[in-house]
Amino acid sequence: MKHELASKCRWAGTVVTALWLAIWMGSARWTCDAGLGRSYAVSLRSGRLWVLWDEPARLPTAEAWWEWQVNPQKVQWAFAGRRTQWHLGRYGYVVIPFWSLLLLGGVPTGWLWYRDRPRSPGLCSRCGYDLRGARHAVCPECGAVVARVGV
Ligand SMILES: [Zn+2]
Repeated sequence: MKHELASKCRWAGTVVTALWLAIWMGSARWTCDAGLGRSYAVSLRSGRLWVLWDEPARLPTAEAWWEWQVNPQKVQWAFAGRRTQWHLGRYGYVVIPFWSLLLLGGVPTGWLWYRDRPRSPGLCSRCGYDLRGARHAVCPECGAVVARVGV
């Protein structure tokens, strides 16, 4: 049961990471801006995610809006702005380099894949405990049900 959950997390993490990678790549070519009301907006461009808030009436007037267009800055997108920048106040912004979000999803996902990697025959498929030389119904190390032992 716990193992199934880990498997779901692993696949969900893979999908999210692939999606973020595609968005990151896409942000070199296109920009995407979206906002809520007059005061909040997010913007994705040149490998960076902006979160902005402002005093009312400085942003477009629609309740919720979004738009995308060809990025006018085609160069130096990937690592443009290596560090997170921010200005916090009544109005301000936070700029997050998109690769850091990618790491945030990709590292745990990669670890889950590594942890659940296929094992050699005779070893427990979950923890790698050596099951050869004895017949076990469950792994004595981690309790995983053993499919075939001693074959
Ligand atoms: Zn085990």
